[in-house]
Amino acid sequence: MEGKIIKALAGFYYVSSNGQVYTCKARGKFRKTKQKPLVGDRVEFDIDENQEGYILKLLPRKNVLTRPPICNVDQALLVFSITHPDFDGVLLDRFLAMVEHLSIEPIIVITKIDLDDSLMAQIQKDYASYKVIFVSSKEHIGIEEVKATLKGKSTVVTGQSGVGKSSLLNALDIHLQIETNEISDALGRGKHTTRHTELIAMHGGYVADTPGFSSLELEMTPVELATSYHDFKALASSCKFRGCLHDSEPRCAVKEAVAEGVISEDRYHHYLSFLKEVKEREEHK
Ligand code: GDP
Ligand code: ZN
Repeated sequence: MEGKIIKALAGFYYVSSNGQVYTCKARGKFRKTKQKPLVGDRVEFDIDENQEGYILKLLPRKNVLTRPPICNVDQALLVFSITHPDFDGVLLDRFLAMVEHLSIEPIIVITKIDLDDSLMAQIQKDYASYKVIFVSSKEHIGIEEVKATLKGKSTVVTGQSGVGKSSLLNALDIHLQIETNEISDALGRGKHTTRHTELIAMHGGYVADTPGFSSLELEMTPVELATSYHDFKALASSCKFRGCLHDSEPRCAVKEAVAEGVISEDRYHHYLSFLKEVKEREEHK
């Protein structure tokens, strides 16, 4: 049988297959291969006469996240509030580089639009080539649009604390009841206690229940960074030099696009600061 690991706990793997969840163990022979099954893995497994499942084989992975440990992520909801906390374009551009580098489709979700809508047009313009969804979990705006993106995909949700990730998940699925920040504040404890990651079946897809990308490190080479953003990548073939880093090289198509206002100047400046960071990291290796 074939299925997907949706939860790993105490040596057991919970494998979803054809609408059923089977509790499986990794077989002795399989354990020797050293490749540890991860949440998100597509696996081949067998069920014996006692209804006990055994994982036989891991199918090839599309990508792997280390924190939290999960693989085969199709898309990421990059959650940013328009205010409280303030919209953070630097962090958004960092996440975009990270997810696009891993072949994860980014979906930008701008929350709390009931509080302030003055930045909406600017965000829409700067990220015109991306899918951007404006939501208010409080007033149920944009929620159906987010739901529609989940079908058939494995999704991680990421964003700073307080931007409204839990509120969004609760609005997407009323059965969830994830505690939001005001509740945990009332209890006087942080809600980000470490725990295992689980994929929750939601609107025809799966959503990871722990926020993705807890490390903000740009784990890529300068050239990889230069082609991580899909719009930079599309232009890179028109740059004069192969492997152009869109920095001080002449006849750079990305810089021309910035000059023409096709690519936002802010985004380009964020890119340059990341390039510096990635180069410095390379030098210290
Ligand atoms: P998380 O840390 O990203 O999970 O954020 P929470 O979901 O816990 O939300 C943080 C705070 O923002 C809470 O006080 C929520 O009630 C509030 N909040 C979340 N979404 C919205 C929204 O769309 N509109 C308004 N006005 N407040 C929101
Ligand atoms: Zn260039």
